[in-house]
Amino acid sequence: MTKYVFVTGGVVSGLGKGITASSLALLLKARGYKVFMQKFDPYFNIDPGTMNPIQHGEVFVTYDGCETDLDLGHYERFIDEELNYTSNITSGKIYSSVIEKERHGDYLGATVQLVPHITNEIKNKVYEAGLTSKADIVITEIGGTVGDIESQAFIETLRQIQYEKGSTETAFVHTTLIPYIIGSNELKTKPTQNSVKDLQNMGIRPNFLVCRTPFSTSDSIKEKLSLFCSIPKENIVDAIDAKNIYDIPINMHKQGIDELILKQFNLPVNKANLKDWENLLYVMDNLKEEVEIALVGKYVELHDAYLSVAEALKHAGYKYQTKVNIKWVNSEDLENNLDFKEVFKNTKGIIVPGGFGNRGTLGMIKAINYARVNNIPFLGICLGMQLSVIEFARNVCKLEDCNSTEFDPLCKNPIIDLMSDQKTVINMGGTLRLGNYNCKLTKGTLAYNDYKTDLIQERHRHRYEFNNKYMDLLKEKGMVFSGINEESNLVEIIEIPKHKHFIACQFHPEFKSRPTRPHPLFVSFVKASIDNK
Ligand code: GLN
Repeated sequence: MTKYVFVTGGVVSGLGKGITASSLALLLKARGYKVFMQKFDPYFNIDPGTMNPIQHGEVFVTYDGCETDLDLGHYERFIDEELNYTSNITSGKIYSSVIEKERHGDYLGATVQLVPHITNEIKNKVYEAGLTSKADIVITEIGGTVGDIESQAFIETLRQIQYEKGSTETAFVHTTLIPYIIGSNELKTKPTQNSVKDLQNMGIRPNFLVCRTPFSTSDSIKEKLSLFCSIPKENIVDAIDAKNIYDIPINMHKQGIDELILKQFNLPVNKANLKDWENLLYVMDNLKEEVEIALVGKYVELHDAYLSVAEALKHAGYKYQTKVNIKWVNSEDLENNLDFKEVFKNTKGIIVPGGFGNRGTLGMIKAINYARVNNIPFLGICLGMQLSVIEFARNVCKLEDCNSTEFDPLCKNPIIDLMSDQKTVINMGGTLRLGNYNCKLTKGTLAYNDYKTDLIQERHRHRYEFNNKYMDLLKEKGMVFSGINEESNLVEIIEIPKHKHFIACQFHPEFKSRPTRPHPLFVSFVKASIDNK
């Protein structure tokens, strides 16, 4: 029977609830349990796919093609399990499915209400995650902060689940803030007391507190919290500001929260096998070299917009005991007459990641051109691949007026164009080419040497494709099409063998990189950058 851990947040947002949930999951997995993770987001978008990355950060894509919150990326990186459509539920999804059922006549006779119809729908999503994953323990994070109007239906559902299943099958972990007041030089518990009271007013008694704090809390603070919040002292743990998010599971493990959760569930407390994770932390703490890689994009003011790409670069660096320093370059700035030599003077590799819309693409094309002409290792991802093709066609093949129809629908040579089945699409949400597709690799290419196999599957999120009409022209001039989706005859990877290291892919390899298992395309790109003396 699946057990459920719910992670809520109080006082302020941005406390690292997602990292707390991921850390708990990692620890329970390390103790031999099958875990699965889920996030509830209270907003009314069906998914974050249509949101601006500057507001919401990157959209993480699951293998089954769901566009999800970036916290799912943390989950996958921490627990190294693939998540799916049951893993990210929004109010938009819940309400639209209830309204659809109402129109279908499923509730005939009933007045459709928040309780029980909306709450039942949410409850079903919790249990569906347990049933389909067959996990021993499902960890569900509730987005937002307790007390938000928008998250009330979710909190009410959790109250019902706590009542239905009891404390041996559910555990409630509340993450809060213990601020330090300069002047009186004290850690303060009042905001936490109030936030636990808010939760109790809604009928939920949390079992654990994870307190974000700049310093460890004293025994007397824990006693006070225990008294005011009705939570045993040992169930209150500190989450001290960490310099590295990957340290957090170990910090929590040292305070025994994983053991206490298992005891609450009456499950055997197996010894935790954290060897791989500890080795990883050792490597991270003992990096010997540094390398600068420039990431050229238009959303660089919010680094979270490229979270998985930045993580994947770091993971690949660990393999070579090297710290990857990302130089964030705003592609729009490159459109002015900047001195590229100055901008990239310490840069050993250039990456152009995904993106949508015309803004900033000219700057990205200039950066690609700079990498190609100056033999600087280059990795292009999705939009980065499409622009690499445009750059090559314009500057090497001298193909006039060539572009992507995303940016210029009437250009003479649409070298990047919509697939025929995309031409009739009207809705923007959920209609991209999403999730896993096959890619067949050609022996002897860079891609084949990286993956060391001829058939791979990678996650996609795009609408436009390379137009095969131009393939021969580009081949003649030295571009190699090393990865193809044979089912639809679509280009997946291009490379330029004459160059030191120039490769670009239509899919998003960053979503499959793990700290302990870096992605082969990132590994070879970072290696080439390190070797680029
Ligand atoms: N805008 C491009 C497309 O839709 C690339 C998308 C991306 O980089 N994720 O095809």
